[in-house]
Amino acid sequence: MFEQAGVPVLGAVENMAWLKCPDCGHRLTLFPPVRADRSIWSLGVHRLVAMPFSPEIAADGMPVVARNAKSAEAELFSELAAEVMAILGRLGLNPN
Ligand SMILES: [Zn+2]
Repeated sequence: MFEQAGVPVLGAVENMAWLKCPDCGHRLTLFPPVRADRSIWSLGVHRLVAMPFSPEIAADGMPVVARNAKSAEAELFSELAAEVMAILGRLGLNPN
């Protein structure tokens, strides 16, 4: 859809990709995998990050990066931002 509209796609975030088990910390998969013919990943869309389903992200309405920059979730958002900036830089679109 974006390509048809001429909007470049830098990638996509896989949201709620997993859940950290509150008991033992291992990764739980929440949803079954999307069929390849219905998946943006099979179209070659770059997966920017696989973000967990985490109460930490949504707690008290404050962005997790501002509330707890050292948390694993905040690290993922920082990695996401760095990845987007790197892609924009490679495209000559770096806003800095
Ligand atoms: Zn567990």
